[in-house]
Amino acid sequence: ILLPICRRFMTFLRSTRLRFLIPFDITLETHMLVGIVFAILVLSHTCAHICDIVNFAGADEDDIYALFGDKLGTVPSSRSARVKLLFQQRSIITGLLMVVCILVAYPMILLRRTRFNLFWTTHHLLLVMLILLCIHGTGNLLEPFQSIYWLIAPFVLYFVPRFLRETKYSTMKVIQAKIKPGECLQIQLERPKGLLWEKRVNAGMYAFINVPEVSRLEWHPFTLTSSPANDFVEFHFRSVGDWTEKVHALFEGQHQQENEDGFNEEDEVNYPLVKVEGPIGASSQGYKDYPVIVLIGAGIGITPMISVLRNLVENPGKIRRAFFYWTVRDQNALKWFPSILDDIYDADTSHIFQIRHFLTSAKYDDRDIGQILLKYAVRAQHKHNDMDLVLGRQAHHMIETGRPDWDEELTSVKEEAKELGFKKCGIFLCGPLKMAEAVDEASLKLSQQDSDFHFYFSKETF
Ligand SMILES: Cc1cc2nc3c(=O)[nH]c(=O)nc-3n(C[C@H](O)[C@H](O)[C@H](O)COP(=O)(O)OP(=O)(O)OC[C@H]3O[C@@H](n4cnc5c(N)ncnc54)[C@H](O)[C@@H]3O)c2cc1C
Repeated sequence: ILLPICRRFMTFLRSTRLRFLIPFDITLETHMLVGIVFAILVLSHTCAHICDIVNFAGADEDDIYALFGDKLGTVPSSRSARVKLLFQQRSIITGLLMVVCILVAYPMILLRRTRFNLFWTTHHLLLVMLILLCIHGTGNLLEPFQSIYWLIAPFVLYFVPRFLRETKYSTMKVIQAKIKPGECLQIQLERPKGLLWEKRVNAGMYAFINVPEVSRLEWHPFTLTSSPANDFVEFHFRSVGDWTEKVHALFEGQHQQENEDGFNEEDEVNYPLVKVEGPIGASSQGYKDYPVIVLIGAGIGITPMISVLRNLVENPGKIRRAFFYWTVRDQNALKWFPSILDDIYDADTSHIFQIRHFLTSAKYDDRDIGQILLKYAVRAQHKHNDMDLVLGRQAHHMIETGRPDWDEELTSVKEEAKELGFKKCGIFLCGPLKMAEAVDEASLKLSQQDSDFHFYFSKETF
């Protein structure tokens, strides 16, 4: 139950050839599945012991001594005194506390999406439960205790990184922060020296961020938008809830305060302290294993893809073709990365990339003649002088309206990949579940139709 969420250890394993054997993309799902099995076993175990207590209360004294020896001391003859004796045993006290931990923490899992902090705080009761589990059998009443031997390694792998992130070594210096349209904060941090950030960082990875001025306890995951070749570490935070809004306001306030105090743009700004735990492995970093890749980002789900694209420009490796799709609902989002995407486009001398943007809030209806004409007018204008009518400025990438038709898109990806002589393609998606289902379904269908070609799909959902 603990091993799949020992993120640093999983990140290390993911960097070895074990990634071809173990599905590291589903570690959280594995943790949840083991959690369900664990709860079922705990409840069955508890029911069995309730029967034991009833049997013990009415059992023959000789049978009790035969089973326990003198481990329980003198066994009283009355039923109530015997039950009382049992409830003084370490195994029963810890057992009851463990059941309480489960009964409080498990229902809170349902609140993970809506009240994350409540879920997260109560989830720590399960760590208390695992510590109680180590003590549970130490009375050696029925069998020699052994849980500690099973738990010691996962405890070390889990607690050491959590302890280290609280130390000064996780602090990183902010070198630049920018507020972008569409409630997005970009921060650049000085890249620390050392093995982790110099040798072990890959495009597509994420890290846990803590801003002590906002909350000392909260650590939130954010994907790197910088590439391993950059000498800084960059993140983009979209404001969606209380923590991100407070961080946004803190950085915005800092900027204004410095300006009012008479600093100009070149003066060094005293940014708030930021702590970082990472880098941590994620599914998008598997892109290197394929000659042809499809990168799909929805909204802020573009962040891992930006890191991958930036890295591909520097170091394409064995990648021959990369199809990048970015779907956004809010037009402001298109202003998050314009220069980065244009730089990538300009640097793409070997024509690896195909970059497509979709504005999904503008619905496209293929029965509406006006919309069809508009679509062709937008395309013609862009072809003529790179003018994007949606953005109202020149841009390398034309903005298309509506949602991509994944059957159509993946069919053309497949044809192009086959023309280049490749038999497989990796699809990496970061976006909502519905979109992931649509892409997964289309890729599965196309793979089943053609025994000579296979799509490999992996997804991340924020
Ligand atoms: C691997 C990963 C990478 C991410 N990368 C980015 C990114 O590059 N840019 C970006 O803008 N957002 C990213 N997110 C989402 C970001 O972590 C959440 O938006 C942020 O934690 C919201 O916190 P909040 O308190 O402001 O909002 P809340 O309203 O509290 O939460 C909004 C949503 O975020 C989830 N969430 C909240 N706190 C946490 C937490 N500590 N850990 C995990 N999930 C949490 C909640 O379940 C909820 O669904 C990523 C998430 C994950 C899991």
